[in-house]
Amino acid sequence: MYFNIESDYLCHLMKIIKLHDLYFKPLIRKEEIAGIVQQLATDVKADMPPGEIPIFIGILNGCFLFAADFLRAYTGDCEVSFVKLASYQGTSSTEKVTQLVGLNTALEGRTVVILEDVIDTGNTLQEIYKIFENEKVKQLKIATLFFKPTVFRKELPIDYIGKNIDDSFIVGYGLDYNNLGRNYADIYQLTTPPTMKNIVLFGPPGAGKGTQATLLKEKYDLIHISTGDVFRYNIKNQTELGVLAKTYIDAGNLVPDEVTINMLKEEVLKNAGANGFIFDGFPRTQSQAEALDTFLAEKGAQINGMVALEVSEDLLVARLLERGKTSGRSDDMDESKIRNRFNEYNTKTAILKKYYQAQNNYFGVDGVGSINEITARLSEVFDTL
Ligand code: AMP
Repeated sequence: MYFNIESDYLCHLMKIIKLHDLYFKPLIRKEEIAGIVQQLATDVKADMPPGEIPIFIGILNGCFLFAADFLRAYTGDCEVSFVKLASYQGTSSTEKVTQLVGLNTALEGRTVVILEDVIDTGNTLQEIYKIFENEKVKQLKIATLFFKPTVFRKELPIDYIGKNIDDSFIVGYGLDYNNLGRNYADIYQLTTPPTMKNIVLFGPPGAGKGTQATLLKEKYDLIHISTGDVFRYNIKNQTELGVLAKTYIDAGNLVPDEVTINMLKEEVLKNAGANGFIFDGFPRTQSQAEALDTFLAEKGAQINGMVALEVSEDLLVARLLERGKTSGRSDDMDESKIRNRFNEYNTKTAILKKYYQAQNNYFGVDGVGSINEITARLSEVFDTL
């Protein structure tokens, strides 16, 4: 459902997907697939004798996207046909007969290249070899996009292999689970249902994210990661990261994405067994949000929701100046630095609302009121995620 939304915010998104009752996590990105297909087409062409016009035969249904991309990448004249392998019980009840459906081209004397999406045990491949024995072709070659070497049980040649993969159930790029999943551009692999609760606590500087996160992490047994706190800890201890981050933070600017993203990943990995995380102050840019989605998806996890404290800017400037009297935070003491943080928020961070809205994952909460009132409002949303 998420992937039908026309939005720039989702164009490179890789997330866990659910098909029927099962969950799948990203395995191979469409960019990598494109490179593999291009290489296969180049290799097949390089082996083709000059002037030879091959017939590519795609084994449906799984190969349809692969075959389409392969053909566009193949330079030179060629023909294409698609077949299905159908099994039925023969006349004697134990005998299973496999035959091709849809072959309408004469193959005698031709070079035939079979296009398969994935070869695992080799049972289908064996049937293909058997069937083509009778076709009097000049040459039969097999090109498969994916190959599972650990489960292949046959002594049969495979001429071209796009990529070896482990023995996991995969979907996407033409491959399905009970007919769903063929239309995803990337390849996904079966994973266990996500059990973590991961929440992005969002809001402008001074909205009360830190205070609320401290209360909510206890209530929901989550790990609270505040990137601002981690930076301040590093500055205090004069680590390399702290020295690097200090100039940005003191001026109220954002620390560069690469630095922040790597730091965030380390913090998550330190707490591998956690029930989930409250992310506070992260993500703050679109590329941080994308990096977080991809990083979690690779672990079989996801963001359950962005919960945002909505408070007006003027109220917050006053609040922050008040906080600066006691917090010791240099970026809270000077109105121009505070205004700059809002500027950073409005130009780089506020767009994340749209990013999560596009995934139906944005939950706004009124951030004006007593601490307890706001905790109660946030809890109402947390309970549903
Ligand atoms: P905070 O405590 O969340 O208000 O963060 C204080 C400062 O740390 C920010 O003004 C930034 O300079 C830096 N910072 C914290 N989180 C991030 C982030 N996700 N990306 C870039 N800079 C950050």
